[in-house]
Amino acid sequence: MDVLLIGSGGREHALAWKLRQSPELGRLFAAPGNPGIAEVADLVDLDPADHAAVVRFCRDRAIALVVVGAEVPLVAGLADALREAGLAVFGPSAAAARLEGSKGFTKDLCARMGIPTARYRRFSDAGEAKAHVAAEGAPIVVKADGLAAGKGVTVAASVEEAQRAVDDCFSGGETGVEVVIEECMTGPEASLFCLCDGDTALAFGTAEDHKRAYDGDRGPNTGGMGAYSPSGLMTPEVTERAMREIVRPTLAGMRELGAPFRGVLYAGLMLTAEGPKLIEYNVRFGDPEAQVLMMRLESDLLPILLTAATGSLVGVEPRWSDDPAVTVVLAAQGYPGTVTKGTRIGTLPEGGEGEIVFHAGTAMRDGVLVANGGRVLNATARDADVKGAIARAYGLVDRIDWPEGFCRRDIAHRAAG
Ligand code: ATP
Repeated sequence: MDVLLIGSGGREHALAWKLRQSPELGRLFAAPGNPGIAEVADLVDLDPADHAAVVRFCRDRAIALVVVGAEVPLVAGLADALREAGLAVFGPSAAAARLEGSKGFTKDLCARMGIPTARYRRFSDAGEAKAHVAAEGAPIVVKADGLAAGKGVTVAASVEEAQRAVDDCFSGGETGVEVVIEECMTGPEASLFCLCDGDTALAFGTAEDHKRAYDGDRGPNTGGMGAYSPSGLMTPEVTERAMREIVRPTLAGMRELGAPFRGVLYAGLMLTAEGPKLIEYNVRFGDPEAQVLMMRLESDLLPILLTAATGSLVGVEPRWSDDPAVTVVLAAQGYPGTVTKGTRIGTLPEGGEGEIVFHAGTAMRDGVLVANGGRVLNATARDADVKGAIARAYGLVDRIDWPEGFCRRDIAHRAAG
């Protein structure tokens, strides 16, 4: 069967790499893709925002499954357009993607379904939000509603900082702005990935990531500088509790709203003294968490995604390698601020079994591989233990010839003890 993959990051390269291993795969198309994805797929010049063009392409090519990697096209309704045209798509409708697109929506759903999460209130008026902050005291968390690419959250240590964050949210002058003010939870964080068919949620791996730019969790927040899987914090008991108390009630709540969730539900969890609590949902795989999940998945990904998109996941039991996997992000100097594009990257190391360098922000210019974004490459490896996986991932990093790149040197060290 032929598949179209939408996206161009390291996450999509990992998905393409894994899909390519399926004996059931015919042609794999990717839009827009990147040079790494081009090694395993045919790149097509399609704008994911042009839903009619994507539908036309899928009809013309008799595409059996569309896999949407990122949240922006999902929140914009690409999956709805494809489903309305009778095409199979792995990814939620716009109504279901509100679980990521609107923090207020998700908090209201949690309240209705009794899902453990931080206490909260929603505000559309800056003055009322600031009065609430003053009454509650610090520490306190301020979140802009809507997609903010990881930049819409302030964990404020003082009332003044929280009130400044409220002012920042409202400073643009747009109408309809909303903030969510939350209780500050404490505990370690972990990610739980679930595949959903609208009714059933299948736990599909755990991971921990590193959000800050520099070693020792210092520096600005980023999209993620590295990850490892599995998360040692997510024992089978904690995972089952999170499925029971958080994920399954969410699916039930979405069904009740007439917006059944099909796709990846990625729960960002805080493991508090009272048990796992939801920090936030994403409606797609994490980037770079997908890279470590795909490195550990032994089952064929394609029939599982097709089943989630069109059938029932009841009885599906994916097989995983017990070996942990680690991915290290190489970013362009200056990331997450302004970066220089176009710097030359030398021939990438081949990597042995259980090792690969995924492409994220790369491009081909006149036959030369160049950096074309903030996060550029993901050195990814699996081994019998975390220390071995770390050594192999950094072994790849050290063989990459790209002087303008940088990475953290402590990815997964907290798991290695
Ligand atoms: P991203 O999608 O990049 O993870 P986001 O903008 O959607 O980020 P959240 O994941 O909701 O934001 O929050 C970002 C980080 O802020 C969390 O990983 C967590 O460390 C912290 N955080 C969020 N909410 C709380 C809370 N209620 N209590 C304590 N920390 C929180």
